[in-house]
Amino acid sequence: MSILLTGGTGYIGSHVAVAVAQLGHEIVLYDNLSNSDEAVVTQIAQIIGRPLTFIRGDIRDTQLLQLTLRAHGVAVVVHLAGLKAVGESLVSPLDYYGNNVQGTISLMQAMKAEGVRKIVFSSSATVYGQPKYLPLDEAHSLSATSPYGRSKIHIEELLRDVAVSDPSWSIACLRYFNPAGAHDTFLMGDNPKGTPNNLMPFIAQVAMGKRARLEVFGDDFETEDGTGLRDYIHIMDLAEGHAAALEFLGSSQGWHAINLGTGQPYSVLQMIRSFESVSGAAVPFEISARRPGDVAACYANANKAKSVLGWAAKRNLREICESTWRFQQTLAQRLK
Ligand code: NAD
Ligand code: UDP
Repeated sequence: MSILLTGGTGYIGSHVAVAVAQLGHEIVLYDNLSNSDEAVVTQIAQIIGRPLTFIRGDIRDTQLLQLTLRAHGVAVVVHLAGLKAVGESLVSPLDYYGNNVQGTISLMQAMKAEGVRKIVFSSSATVYGQPKYLPLDEAHSLSATSPYGRSKIHIEELLRDVAVSDPSWSIACLRYFNPAGAHDTFLMGDNPKGTPNNLMPFIAQVAMGKRARLEVFGDDFETEDGTGLRDYIHIMDLAEGHAAALEFLGSSQGWHAINLGTGQPYSVLQMIRSFESVSGAAVPFEISARRPGDVAACYANANKAKSVLGWAAKRNLREICESTWRFQQTLAQRLK
């Protein structure tokens, strides 16, 4: 089967590409490189042991998408392309709605025109907003505290409307919790352009000495140690969740929302301690003010993924920290 990955050279897309290619599928990566590097295409090819197609393009370019779907006989799309920085979305909401929502409309139009009716969409646990109960299951109400979060809700809703309008569509919205870690060759991992927004790449850069210290955003939350609780999921578990979702779409129709998380929360301080213990490096930090919009705790009820996809996360926090650390060291070697 031929599978198009929008945002395929990004952090999550590159790991999904490996997991899916290793099942024997043909992979077409489609990305405008606004937040990734073309070099990742070579790394994926090295890991899977064969070349793959990369198209530099924007998801708002409906015509190029149509040509790509047709030329490669694409059967399913995994749609990961999007802007993802919460703070930036507050400053530039039009860029976020334009890129994420308009981009998805353009992709769906191209798919409709070319008769492609199966899509896996990268949604986020951010669609649950301030949790009313924990752990979060898929029946929890949706709300958002940022244009980024709202763009994900809008996209989920538009995808559901499309599925209702035409029952031949099969759509899975995968609500990711906190992806972290790297591939076990340590050739690929989270290597954001500019200052990392997420905790793990920030911790890793501090441990490597690239940054002086981590700011811990608040120690006065209603959690055991006062810092935020999140559900960190190993990137290869997340990637394998996509492979399971692709199989599921082969035999199901309609719209489905499914959490991809572990159900096990860790605090910011626990993450720092775990990283220090695995790496042997110090992670200096200071407590600063809460980040606007941050919730105290966010973790998954992962039962639906188990029952519907037959998938559950297998890797632990140690493996997340270890792969992140080894990836950072490999990266430093490569840049020498
Ligand atoms: P990423 O920035 O590494 O990857 C996204 C990719 O999309 C990048 O390579 C970027 O160049 C590309 N892109 C952006 N706009 C595009 C456009 N208009 N046309 C073509 N390509 C475009 O981010 P990621 O962490 O790999 O996230 C992938 C998806 O998962 C995003 O949709 C994100 O919102 C979602 N998500 C990520 C997280 C997380 O913590 N990383 C959590 C929940 C959901
Ligand atoms: N965090 C932090 N310092 C940072 C980045 C994140 O203390 O530099 C905290 C953040 O407040 C949250 C947790 O780490 O409690 C995870 O943040 P991230 O941005 O990675 O994920 P999200 O908040 O989107 O779940």
